[in-house]
Amino acid sequence: MTATATEQWREVGDRVFARRHRAFDLNVGLVLGQGACLVVDTHGSEAQGRELAAAVRRVTADPWVVVDTHAHFDHCFGNAVFRPAKVWGHRRCAENMLAYAEAQRRLMAAAYRKHGRPAAADDLEATRIDPPEELVDDVVPLTVGGRPVQLRYLGRGHTDNDLVVAVADAAVLFAGDLVEQGAPPAFEDAFPLDWPATLDAMLELAEGPVVPGHGDVVDRDYVLAQRADIGRAADAGRSAYAEGRPVEAVLAEVPFPAPVARSALERAFRQLRGDPPYDPPEKLLRRAGIG
Ligand SMILES: [Zn+2]
Repeated sequence: MTATATEQWREVGDRVFARRHRAFDLNVGLVLGQGACLVVDTHGSEAQGRELAAAVRRVTADPWVVVDTHAHFDHCFGNAVFRPAKVWGHRRCAENMLAYAEAQRRLMAAAYRKHGRPAAADDLEATRIDPPEELVDDVVPLTVGGRPVQLRYLGRGHTDNDLVVAVADAAVLFAGDLVEQGAPPAFEDAFPLDWPATLDAMLELAEGPVVPGHGDVVDRDYVLAQRADIGRAADAGRSAYAEGRPVEAVLAEVPFPAPVARSALERAFRQLRGDPPYDPPEKLLRRAGIG
């Protein structure tokens, strides 16, 4: 696919756009109001953020506000480019960025270098970490140029800081990585036992197009099916844990490829053991062989 084929804004509802990027197959959103706009996620570095900001400017000259759907670098490392605008995020998104963004940066820069992409590594290393300062706990109703837009936290799922963005007058929902298309959901930082209920809450808001964090725009039925798959992972984790069986014994009960199923089950076990949800950043770096 060429850049022009994939990186056009696509109007998914009345003056609501999604832009799918080759890098990480990431979706970014744009909501246009009268004299203001909202940018949903800022992509994975300052260079990617600048490219995105220029793409927004080809659509509108209006001032923007920004929302980060969660603290994973591919969604929020472009933030600094959009300043001095307000950046919204869940309270734990800001906390997580302060604690983990540097480790994310080092891990990803090392991965870029390993895969022969030194320029991407340089870009990431030059990126300023700029967490949201406008914080959401539960729900924040915004008005974007006269249009009501709700920022909602619906519970733990892909992370403990996922926001969804509901544009009611266009019936469009930005789901962040609570929903993923084109690849299985990512469980590395997930709460598999909570994720199905979080998607149940999302389903109550999903009337029209649902823009996942990655991949093609989907609908309510797609979310329902993904909810069922994640629910099966959670059930397999619960029963294996209760019966004292290892993760490997129930891999086949989880409808995802084995590495993803293993990750889902290990995260479910971690929840059931009551362990801290995230390892300290030093441990993540050590495990990756980065001192
Ligand atoms: Zn993510």
